[in-house]
Amino acid sequence: MNLPPSPLSPPPVDPGTLARCLETLRRAPAGLVTDIDGTISVIAATPDEARVEAAAAAALRRLAARLALVAVVSGRAAAAGRAMVGLDELLYVGNHGMERLYRGVTRTHQGAAAGAGGLAAALAEVEAGARASGADDGLLLENKVLSGTVHYRLASDPEAARAALLPLAAAAAERHGLVVTEGRLIVELRPRVRVNKGTALVDLVAEHRLRGVVFLGDDLTDVDGFVALRTLREAGEVAALRVGVLAAETPQRVREEIDAAVPGVAACAALLEAVADGLDAR
Ligand SMILES: [Mg+2]
Repeated sequence: MNLPPSPLSPPPVDPGTLARCLETLRRAPAGLVTDIDGTISVIAATPDEARVEAAAAAALRRLAARLALVAVVSGRAAAAGRAMVGLDELLYVGNHGMERLYRGVTRTHQGAAAGAGGLAAALAEVEAGARASGADDGLLLENKVLSGTVHYRLASDPEAARAALLPLAAAAAERHGLVVTEGRLIVELRPRVRVNKGTALVDLVAEHRLRGVVFLGDDLTDVDGFVALRTLREAGEVAALRVGVLAAETPQRVREEIDAAVPGVAACAALLEAVADGLDAR
């Protein structure tokens, strides 16, 4: 008799993806680096409502005891990432690489801090412009000090909201020396410094002399990390495995720049658990 799968049973883990993760992470010193939102935390209607999967956090704790590095790299502020994941032993890279938090000590990229001076004013201008053109329904603005995010997930017509927001953001960025980037139903303003998840990963690989690294992500800002790791791998610098966490709205650039995929956040947590089991079994 075939029973339907229980909603509580963890999703099955692809044995090939698990084997590739383990092979990569057995090249000590090795590191595992993960994004948060859309990767180990289901994207919620608002950023405050998002919660990291308990199984993912438990697996990261076990992995931190086994690997040279377990890091979280997020567009959120580093302290916000630490609060969400809840583990003191991990390294938190926040604001797309512009700050780091490790065991209570935060370090900020100096150029980013200097370049983010106009951020609050720029966000206020985007908000005012959206209101003036009637495009402010469902918008949520988030000032993360080193970068700012306009969420349009709750807009009644997200595509129309995006079309209205992009020129407003571009104009505000121009006035305040910032740049505009995009992600899953968000527009972001960042300082004009060459810091992103890719430069963060390159730094982590070098600082920890990693021979193997697994990086998990889901969105356009993670593509910077995926590309950087491909470049390092092609140069023979590190064995890298790039895992994409897929959803209905996964950007095409993500699909093009990954080595393996898992079908969603719960499946990503199940993979992390299986990787922790596999490393424990040695
Ligand atoms: Mg994400």
